[in-house]
Amino acid sequence: MPARGGRDYITRLREQPAEVWLRGERVKDVTTHPALRNGVHSLAALYDMQHDPILRETMTYRSPTSGDPVGLSFITPQTTQDLECRREMMTHWARATCGMMGRTPDFLNVSLMAMAAAGEYFAQNRPAFKDHIRRYYEYVREHDLTLTHTLLNMQRSRAPGPTPLTDQTDIALSVVSETDAGIVVHGCRLLATLGPLSDEIAVYPARSHHLPNDAAGRYSFAFAIPCSTPGLKLVCRESYDLGRSRFDHPLGSRFEEMDAIAVFEQVLVPWERVFLLGDVELANDMSHATNQYLHSGHQVVTKNVAKAEFIVGLASLMVTTLGSSKLPQVQEKLAELIGCLEVQKACLRAAEADAAMDRWGIMSPALMPIMVARNLFISMYPRMVEIIQLLGSSNLMALPTEADFASPIAADLERYLETDTRTARERAKLFHLAWDVACSAFGGRQTLYERFFQGDILRNAVVTTNIYDAQPLMERVRKFLEQE
Ligand SMILES: Cc1cc2nc3c(=O)[nH]c(=O)nc-3n(C[C@H](O)[C@H](O)[C@H](O)COP(=O)(O)OP(=O)(O)OC[C@H]3O[C@@H](n4cnc5c(N)ncnc54)[C@H](O)[C@@H]3O)c2cc1C
Repeated sequence: MPARGGRDYITRLREQPAEVWLRGERVKDVTTHPALRNGVHSLAALYDMQHDPILRETMTYRSPTSGDPVGLSFITPQTTQDLECRREMMTHWARATCGMMGRTPDFLNVSLMAMAAAGEYFAQNRPAFKDHIRRYYEYVREHDLTLTHTLLNMQRSRAPGPTPLTDQTDIALSVVSETDAGIVVHGCRLLATLGPLSDEIAVYPARSHHLPNDAAGRYSFAFAIPCSTPGLKLVCRESYDLGRSRFDHPLGSRFEEMDAIAVFEQVLVPWERVFLLGDVELANDMSHATNQYLHSGHQVVTKNVAKAEFIVGLASLMVTTLGSSKLPQVQEKLAELIGCLEVQKACLRAAEADAAMDRWGIMSPALMPIMVARNLFISMYPRMVEIIQLLGSSNLMALPTEADFASPIAADLERYLETDTRTARERAKLFHLAWDVACSAFGGRQTLYERFFQGDILRNAVVTTNIYDAQPLMERVRKFLEQE
């Protein structure tokens, strides 16, 4: 099947429903459920872009196997131009969602491509695993499926000590048996963002949370299964789509991508879907060695740029509306936002400019600009949101709803909320958007997402420091010290 359109995406979700739980009820159809359907439709609109007469060429490429046009985020990059084309495609999706849907399908498409290209890595574990991961990548690419992933075990306690060894309670997801048909897994993982809106769930080790090098074999694996697999439950948090209008909740009413806990109850994973099993060292090094993290980082930083662009645009409109754009203290804050955006853009460009063939024969973005951009955004984004609050102040609360503008008090609102440059309605609409970025439950989740979705800031700092080659720099300092 060539690149899907929105209708194909919705039909499959409807025909192969996962077991999704939300507020104590099993969701019959995520495509029509009021808490989820708008997120589904936003994703469907992204798939439709693959068939847009103007965008089509930049959104797809020819499948190396079927010759059909398939999603460009699946491309196995061979040149820097491939990386640039992939970034251009991902930018279209990121801009369409204002950077507020971190899990547009490209996030996992690029990860899966990297893992498949590094098939030999999985062959070190068992020779068949190389074919498993390659065939799975081709299957997902040719069917243009939507993936979620879940990397972390639920933990009973954060007390120091390696998680699996303190897990006496079978909370963490583990292999409980092996059969002729496959492995049986049992336990719980968090989180699966986009899980209820996805076709497939990939389960693999987290780069940031290493397993101890002993006795952790049954916690070390990588696999992927349909979300509709019997025994798998996806337990949603409360939805931030409260059924309000685009005027009142401009982001929550569009971009609810939903986070879920994944509960696996004696779930059978067929052998052809197992990519890694029982080797703690290979599991711990998987993301780094396959460059999966690097390619997903290319998507993440592309999204960061689109999100930062959106925030700079929003802040600039806010201060223009309020007439405060020439105040130095306001310009200081705008300059800080611009700095965040430009640093992300510079890192993205550097990562592509310094891209190189990796040991798997794939053109990969340069590591450090991607890691630095990812790490910086963990603290940049909460600060960007803080600046929106500081620039907006009480305007983020003086927010009549769309219904108020159609009520008997409309004339009062039109009179008192007008500014020198905007009508009252325009002002309210804009500040509802700023509120949804900086104050609403949807906005709060965005900040939490950027703080944590790729591991917390401390663990990322540890990973960066461990990878960074400071030897040449130390040598330079040593030489300086030796000078008379
Ligand atoms: C909105 C959102 C979406 C997410 N989506 C996904 C997803 O789709 N798939 C997925 O796999 N994961 C997802 N995650 C999970 C994410 O990977 C984790 O939140 C992150 O790795 C941190 O782990 P934790 O939440 O267990 O935090 P904890 O490990 O509980 O850490 C909480 C705080 O305590 C500190 N801390 C606690 N224990 C330690 C320790 N032993 N060493 C160092 N510091 C420690 C941390 O620094 C951190 O600040 C998502 C998270 C969020 C918030």
